[in-house]
Amino acid sequence: MEAEAILAALIPSWSSVVLLTFYLGYLAVAGFILPGKVVPGAILSDGTRLHYRCNGLVSLLMLLALLGTGFYMKWMSPTVIADKGVELLLTTFIFSLFVSLVLYAAGLKSCCQCSSLKPNVTGNFIHDWWFGVQLNPCFMGIDLKFFFVRAGMMGWLLINLSLLAKSYVTGTANLSVILYHFFCALYITDYFFYEEFMTSTWDIIAERLGFMLVFGDLVFIPFTFSIQGWWLLKNKVELTKVAAAANCLTFIIGYRVFRGANKQKHVFKKNPKAHIWGKPPKVIGGKLLSSGYWGIARHCNYLGDLLLALSFSFPCGTSSVIPYLYPIYLLILLIWRERRDEERCSQKYKEVWEEYCKLVPWRILPFVY
Ligand code: NDP
Repeated sequence: MEAEAILAALIPSWSSVVLLTFYLGYLAVAGFILPGKVVPGAILSDGTRLHYRCNGLVSLLMLLALLGTGFYMKWMSPTVIADKGVELLLTTFIFSLFVSLVLYAAGLKSCCQCSSLKPNVTGNFIHDWWFGVQLNPCFMGIDLKFFFVRAGMMGWLLINLSLLAKSYVTGTANLSVILYHFFCALYITDYFFYEEFMTSTWDIIAERLGFMLVFGDLVFIPFTFSIQGWWLLKNKVELTKVAAAANCLTFIIGYRVFRGANKQKHVFKKNPKAHIWGKPPKVIGGKLLSSGYWGIARHCNYLGDLLLALSFSFPCGTSSVIPYLYPIYLLILLIWRERRDEERCSQKYKEVWEEYCKLVPWRILPFVY
């Protein structure tokens, strides 16, 4: 009987298809019509560059206002996402499979030779489908890579808000629940506030759009980054005042390092003479910043992100490993990514990168790694 119930829950329902369609449809329309700063992306190998309209924050606020109205008018329940979690997960997974296959087929057919759309095909189906064929595929004028990451980050917040509503309905809301949701909401809102920084990240400038990114953005980010919220629905944790204070401190330090490092690099790329921590920047070979956070470790931004991930898990206490799956995943991903980025940078910057590595020997955590 239980197996039957699980199987039934695994078949995408019409309501979850409708929810997903409305959500992605809203984002497409909002991204197109709402105002936002237009930011030039990195210069591609053929000298061209894309432009991104960074209106994620206004799209998010508008969506929250629409949803708030919907809840107030009782057109829908605030717990709808939490109630349909597995159905929505499955529907989104099937959608990302479908999209990645379409992207693969469309990429193979493309004759365009520009850096954004030139097909990069190895002939190995699994490899090409997984890593993608084109760098910046578009659909009806929408840059899909930028669109999917926005959908994933916003989806994470929507899931969390629904879980928070469910916690209140079921009477499980307490300090742990509030801290977890507060930290994540700040992190995601901050992401959209600084959305333009996304345009110079590895995913946008270097990764092709295949199943790995589509699944990562649409399924992995919203459904697994919220794992602590799902866990707290079923498990009650009473934090001591000291634990709560240590938790807040981890979040604050993580945030400062994460945002500070990403901001310093972004500002440096735009204006290589801009002061870092009140002093002129130290620059190697005219290209690489080696002061501020970038003089402490070559990927201090990853350290900040890892601390933030820990601060999202600490509200769950230490009785289970499940809430720590997110920081564990992030640790593996960022170490792998840091290795790939090092390889890319050493090819791109050659002796300048070598000099940087000598000056800043630590990769992520000073004196440890
Ligand atoms: P970075 O933002 O660190 O970008 C790496 C690129 O920055 C390099 O390829 C190089 O590109 C440039 N660069 C490296 N060192 C220097 C330097 N010293 N001076 C100037 N430019 C430099 O990496 P990511 O895009 O991977 O990460 C961005 C953020 O996103 C991080 O904070 C990370 O933690 C977060 N993230 C979070 C994930 C999650 O799942 N939560 C997943 C992935 C990332 P160029 O060729 O332009 O010089």
